[in-house]
Amino acid sequence: MLAPLPYPPAAPTPAWCTMRGARRTNTGDAVITLKSYVQGQWVEGSGDFATLVNPATEAPLARTSTAGIDFAAVLDYARREGGPALRALTFAQRGALLKRMSKVLFEVRDALIDASIANGGTTRSDAKFDIDGATGTLAFYAALGDKLGNARTLVEGPGEQLLRSPRFCGYHLKTPRVGVAVHVNAFNFPAWGLAEKAAVALLAGVPVVSKPATATALLAFRVMERLVEAADLPLGALQLVCGGAGDLLEHLGPQDVLAFTGAGSTGAHLRALAPIVQRSVRVNVEADSLNAAVLGADVEPGSDTYQLFLRDTAREMTQKAGQKCTATRRILVPATQLDRVQEDLVESLSRVRVGDPALDDVRMGPLATAPQLRDVRAGLELLQKSGAHIVFGSATDVAPAGVPAGKGYFIAPVLLRADQPHAANAVHAHEVFGPVATLMPYRDAGDAAALVARGEGSLVNTIYTDDRANLETLLFAIAPHSGRILCGSAKIAEHSVGPGAVMPSCVHGGPGRAGGGEELGGLRGLDFYFQRTAVQGDRALLDRTLGVAPADAG
Ligand code: NAP
Repeated sequence: MLAPLPYPPAAPTPAWCTMRGARRTNTGDAVITLKSYVQGQWVEGSGDFATLVNPATEAPLARTSTAGIDFAAVLDYARREGGPALRALTFAQRGALLKRMSKVLFEVRDALIDASIANGGTTRSDAKFDIDGATGTLAFYAALGDKLGNARTLVEGPGEQLLRSPRFCGYHLKTPRVGVAVHVNAFNFPAWGLAEKAAVALLAGVPVVSKPATATALLAFRVMERLVEAADLPLGALQLVCGGAGDLLEHLGPQDVLAFTGAGSTGAHLRALAPIVQRSVRVNVEADSLNAAVLGADVEPGSDTYQLFLRDTAREMTQKAGQKCTATRRILVPATQLDRVQEDLVESLSRVRVGDPALDDVRMGPLATAPQLRDVRAGLELLQKSGAHIVFGSATDVAPAGVPAGKGYFIAPVLLRADQPHAANAVHAHEVFGPVATLMPYRDAGDAAALVARGEGSLVNTIYTDDRANLETLLFAIAPHSGRILCGSAKIAEHSVGPGAVMPSCVHGGPGRAGGGEELGGLRGLDFYFQRTAVQGDRALLDRTLGVAPADAG
């Protein structure tokens, strides 16, 4: 999600790229068995294997299983070995660990891109988005660790005088929780998902058990192989579970945390699990989102801001075949501009070549799995029943380039239009996780804001306008419903990376449907992994004990 880092070019292909121990299927493709990295070793599941495929060809690539893994022991190992090892390090030393992780992954960037193309169905550019996002976020948190220096804990804000005497004072101390962070990730960002969560937890001093989605776990497995091989990870600091979660979450305790990214229904199920509720396990959920782009009434067709809106919207629909939590799903434009915007977007989308993502001129690959394709088609039906109609693309007609006939989980980009946006309930309530968005008219800024709010909480919404009054009306009305707002204008047309890029310095997460969570945001992200304790007592004694410089004292 960030620009590539200035590290040296890729090192020679690592040994694992030769896929030692692979067997061949009758299609001739090599199939490997993924292992989990738990309790300091690679462990193969004992049965009930899931098969991972190439979504462009449907050829099997790998199999994985977690059968036989003792998840209680995995968590205990993290608490017993990883936690103390990390807490013994200063922030600067944890930062150095993250820097190492970023560097060694960057050295095998090309091999990781290949794994992403093969198992994720990503184009090369989509794969870089995931992998550079992983190394970039690790590097960002490495630099934060460096800045925090030799401390191991943090004190928040100045001390507060509590009563009449200035001697009696209160501070807020942040210490790493002495449990384990379990990270459960979605299928769409196997590298970034693992790294962005791990970077924050490790910097806070909390060991991690990371569980990628099974269907696209090959890339996360490759990432972990490289980290184990070259990053000199402290024992127990980072474990990887490749395959089903089994009873992993049943063993979470009061010092543990769960950070989940995935479907809202899964998130709701997980946060209601009895052990999680009964032991007050801290939970962060990143879930579905019906992100909106609002084109301001002031924006003239053909202007820089209009072009930015078109460019962003077409990219957000098609990057990673629309399988991004930050993708734009609802496009709101002034009623007078509806036909013109439709024409221009259709023109942009018709230039997107769909096909085998390994081909250079292909701009959009397949969906990641067969169930994804089924869900997207079902979602399209739902949107149409709700009053939207397709103005470009189709649920079934697609002719992917460079792919055997009938193979792969392909769908063309689909643009829908709903002329009665307030009546099109499903458009505001059902996330179709593919290259799909709906164009809708609005009357005025108040109406646009009301339509955005119908999404009941978004990760990111975008406002395109050069009119300050218009921005003010939209921004303050939309903010309570948004985790992030990108304000697109002529002045940033050359600089903006669009709403889809998650920056580690800004919070990622959104209210309501989006899960109600928050990740990243620089130091803010660490709070999830800290216990914040109010400490009250004699100011001079606390200043010395907590290491607060007199200038910091209130
Ligand atoms: P999913 O089906 O909910 O799966 C997400 C993860 O949860 C996978 O690792 C899955 O493991 C695991 N899981 C499922 N059931 C579980 C259970 N009972 N116990 C423990 N773990 C369980 O979601 P997905 O299909 O991978 O991802 C698509 C969804 O994610 C979309 O709705 C999208 O909006 C959302 N998403 C949100 C964000 C965000 O930041 N807000 C980012 C990306 C995606 P298995 O694969 O082994 O089943």
